[in-house]
Amino acid sequence: MINYSLNVSLKNFTTMKLGGRVKFLIYLKSLSQLDQIFEWINRESINFLMIGGGSNIIWLDEGFDGLLIVNQLLGFEVENHQNEWIIKIGAGEIWDQIIEKTVLLGLNGIEALSLIPGKVGGTIMQNVGAYGQEIKDTLIDVEVFDTLTKKYQTLKADQCLLNYRSSLFKNYQPRRYFILSIRIRLIKNNFKYHPYEALDRYFDDHKISPLNSEIIRQAVIDIRRTKLPNPAEIANCGSFFANPIINQKQFNNLDPDIKNQVPHWLFDQKIKLSAAWLIEYSGLKDFHDQQTGFATWFKQPLIVVNETGRSTKDLIQFKDFIIDQVFQKTQIKLLMEPEFLPN
Ligand SMILES: Cc1cc2nc3c(=O)[nH]c(=O)nc-3n(C[C@H](O)[C@H](O)[C@H](O)COP(=O)(O)OP(=O)(O)OC[C@H]3O[C@@H](n4cnc5c(N)ncnc54)[C@H](O)[C@@H]3O)c2cc1C
Repeated sequence: MINYSLNVSLKNFTTMKLGGRVKFLIYLKSLSQLDQIFEWINRESINFLMIGGGSNIIWLDEGFDGLLIVNQLLGFEVENHQNEWIIKIGAGEIWDQIIEKTVLLGLNGIEALSLIPGKVGGTIMQNVGAYGQEIKDTLIDVEVFDTLTKKYQTLKADQCLLNYRSSLFKNYQPRRYFILSIRIRLIKNNFKYHPYEALDRYFDDHKISPLNSEIIRQAVIDIRRTKLPNPAEIANCGSFFANPIINQKQFNNLDPDIKNQVPHWLFDQKIKLSAAWLIEYSGLKDFHDQQTGFATWFKQPLIVVNETGRSTKDLIQFKDFIIDQVFQKTQIKLLMEPEFLPN
């Protein structure tokens, strides 16, 4: 028998605290449950969506007339105890708790991704990245349920097409796969640090050396806590806009004032621009809109916070305003990072 709740508010399934109601809600705790759920979905032709922690999604006001599956599949299995440790992790594990565990084991490879909210499955969706690390750097493979073929499958890391804030699951085959578990490879000895400006500055200021993964984790936590709003206190979805990627010709054609100042990085033979800088340059840092109830965060304008906002419709109006103003000022079109659901 399938245990589900009916007509549940979606506000608690997004860190932006917005959205209508969902018809059916299930917490997925075991794979045997999944077989039953999928049989029910097929029999009744129900629309379905799987989520993790809701930190990268925003529900529309009309809600979802289908089944929401909240992935709570757990698991932390160490497969190897050599210099390279292979760890299999359930997609419903809380990502930051996994990092804490691996750091306590003295492992290296994901510590710079500390304090990113959400579950393990969500990290694969957009190849989470921060402070010089990305999940793709350590990923071995992903165990999935293919809702098209109705088969369990293991996809190797290169089949997952992970790139800057993108993946097979998000960009090429959206909604096709349920992510069930992942395997990552971490290093026990031979600690590696990929220099990153904000971290370098932190270690200089605090006169810290030598480094290890525990020190990196603590530095990232300290920096993030001073810079980013905690979604448990102030509703937000982290970076609301992705850094725009343009080609050399577009870069050359930028207004000289912008071209000379905008922080930028080479990326796949293209140029990635700082969206935060573009928003600030457009006069929209710490911008509060009384009418919609949304604002850009005073320390990091990439983040849109929900101050008194009540509807996703108003959030869409707010983000369209930001995109439009930035375009008028810079000729660069910002793209959103979180996703409106259902889409
Ligand atoms: C304060 C804050 C800071 C953040 N900082 C960063 C950052 O530094 N770097 C970064 O990359 N991101 C960041 N994020 C965004 C977000 O936390 C990450 O993308 C996170 O990995 C999303 O995980 P989640 O479990 O919350 O996913 P959800 O929001 O629940 O889902 C995101 C998408 O993945 C799908 N999905 C989730 N789990 C599964 C699954 N098991 N199977 C199939 N589909 C699934 C959902 O359907 C949806 O399309 C931040 C967010 C906040 C609020």
